[in-house]
Amino acid sequence: MGKARGFLEIRKHKNDYRPVAERVRDFGEVELPMALAELRDQAARCMDCGVPFCHQGCPLGNLIPEWNDLVMQGRLAEAARSLHSTNNFPEITSRVCPAPCEASCVLNLEAPDPHAPAQSVPGYGGPVSIKNVERAIADHVFASDLAPRPAEHRSGRRVAIVGSGPAGLAAAQQLARRGHEVTVFEKADRPGGLLRYGIPDFKLDKGVLERRIEQLRGEGVRIETSVNVGVDVSPNELRARFDALVLAGGAERPRPLAVPGADLPGVHYAMEFLTQQNRRVAGGEVPEADAILATGKRVVVLGGGDTGSDCIGTAVRQGAASVLSLELLPRPPDRRAPNNPWPEWPLVLRTSSSHDEGGEREFGVMTQRVLAGDDGRVGAIVTVRVTPKQGRLEEIAGSERQLPCELLLLAMGFLGPVQGGLLQQLGCVLDARGNVATKAGQTSVAGVFAAGDMARGQSLVVSAIAEGRRVADAAHAWLEQRRASETTAAE
Ligand SMILES: Cc1cc2nc3c(=O)[nH]c(=O)nc-3n(C[C@H](O)[C@H](O)[C@H](O)COP(=O)(O)OP(=O)(O)OC[C@H]3O[C@@H](n4cnc5c(N)ncnc54)[C@H](O)[C@@H]3O)c2cc1C
Ligand code: SF4
Repeated sequence: MGKARGFLEIRKHKNDYRPVAERVRDFGEVELPMALAELRDQAARCMDCGVPFCHQGCPLGNLIPEWNDLVMQGRLAEAARSLHSTNNFPEITSRVCPAPCEASCVLNLEAPDPHAPAQSVPGYGGPVSIKNVERAIADHVFASDLAPRPAEHRSGRRVAIVGSGPAGLAAAQQLARRGHEVTVFEKADRPGGLLRYGIPDFKLDKGVLERRIEQLRGEGVRIETSVNVGVDVSPNELRARFDALVLAGGAERPRPLAVPGADLPGVHYAMEFLTQQNRRVAGGEVPEADAILATGKRVVVLGGGDTGSDCIGTAVRQGAASVLSLELLPRPPDRRAPNNPWPEWPLVLRTSSSHDEGGEREFGVMTQRVLAGDDGRVGAIVTVRVTPKQGRLEEIAGSERQLPCELLLLAMGFLGPVQGGLLQQLGCVLDARGNVATKAGQTSVAGVFAAGDMARGQSLVVSAIAEGRRVADAAHAWLEQRRASETTAAE
C-alpha cells in the first residue's frame, strides 16, 4: 500500500474543465488531464482497504488499489500492464465512464455534496479520483507505447463479429490475441458504434478511438464498414463462412414519443442530431436539406440522461437561442436516500459538464402534444406537471403550459435491439425485455454469441467492454471444444 495516512493528509482534488466561455466555442474535449505530480498525490489517498469495493463497482473488475499504489510510486509502465490486463480501452473509459468504482470507494462512505464546485475540498473529500488515475495511466501508454500485440500462433478458426461498438471491438481484440482470424462487420461508414456517432467529441476525441482501431488492425482484425448484416449479407451466410458469430449490434431502437404531433418536421431522435454533428466534426458532409441544426432555435430536449445531456452540449455549441431539458421523473435527491446505501450506485442528481454550459432543466414534466407553427414545422409543445402517486405519475391539475419550441429532440432512452432483420433471420430467442437472450454469452443458436447493449439493453461503455471480453472467452471455449471433438472424430 502507498501512503498510510494519505487519505487523511491529502485533500481530494476534483478534475478541472476548460472554462465554459472557451469550450462552448468548439467541440474539443472539455475535461483536462491532471498533472502527474498531482495524480501521484491523489493515488496516495487510496487506503488499500483490505476488502476493496471499488473493483467490484467497476464492471471490468479493474485492479484499482494495485495501480493506485503503482502510480503513487511513479511506476506507470507497471500500472499500465495491470490496467490493460482487465480493460482493453482505458483511454476511452477514463474519459466517458460515470465511474461506479468511485461511488463504491470506501472513502465515499461519507460522501460530500456531489455538487460542490470543482475545487479542493477539505478532509476526506470523497472517493479516490480513480477515473483520473486511470486516465493518467492510459494516456501515458498512449503517448509512449500502443504497438499492436499480434498473436504468436494462429488457430485457423474464423470469427465474424456484427457491430464495431465497444463490445464488438473488445471481443475482436480478445479473440484476435488468441490467434483467431476475426472480421468485424459494421453497417456505418466508420467503426466505433456509439463511441463514433453517439458520444460527442467534447467528451471523447475521435483521434483516441482511431489510434485504438489502428492497433486492432495491426493485430490482424479486419473491419468491413458499410455492411449491414441481414441486408447486404445474410447472417446465415456468415455462419457458413465463419466458425463462430458474435452479435454486438447495440440497442438501437429509441423510445418514441407517443403523442399527437410527434411526427411533425423538426421533431427528431437524439441520435439523428448527434450523429450529424459528429460527422461534421470529422470533416464529413451533411446535405443541407437533411441538416438538423439548433442554431438560433428554441430547443427542447426530452429525457435527462447521458443522451439528453449530450444534446444540450451540442445545441449550445451550435448556437441555440435557448435549451430546455425536460425530464418526466421527479428531481432526484442531492444525497443518497436511506434506502440507497453505500456501496450501491447513488441515485442522486447528476450534473454533467454540458449542464454547466447553459440551458435549463425541469423535472416532473410530461409532454402531451406537439403543435405546428405557421410554417408547418414544430412550433410549441404542450406539457403538464406530474407527480408520483401509488407507483404511477399523476397529472397536477391546472399545470398545463405551452412552451415555444422550434427543435424537439427525443432522448428518452432505448428499447433494445432492432427487431426483425438479422435477429429474425438467425432465429435468436429474445428475453422478456426484447434483448437477445444469452446464457454465458451463448444465444439460443449454436455457435452464435451476443454481447453489449444487444444482449443487456442500453448500458455503459464499461459494461459493453466487459461483455465483449466475456463473450470472447465463451466463443474461444466453444471453438476449442469443437476442435477437440473434431480431433476425436478424426482419430
Ligand atoms: C448519445 C449517447 C451517449 C452516451 N454516453 C455515454 C457515456 O458518456 N458513458 C457511457 O459509459 N456510456 C454512454 N452511452 C452508452 C454507451 O455508448 C453504450 O452502452 C455502448 O456504446 C454500447 O456498446 P455496444 O458495443 O453494445 O453497442 P454500440 O456502441 O451501439 O455499437 C453497435 C454497433 O453495431 C452496428 N450494427 C448494428 N446492427 C448491425 C448490423 N445488422 N450489421 C452491421 N452493423 C450493425 C451499429 O451500427 C453500431 O456501430 C451513451 C449512449 C448514447 C446513445
Ligand atoms: S472503467 Fe469506469 S468503473 Fe472501471 S475503474 Fe475506470 S472509471 Fe472506474
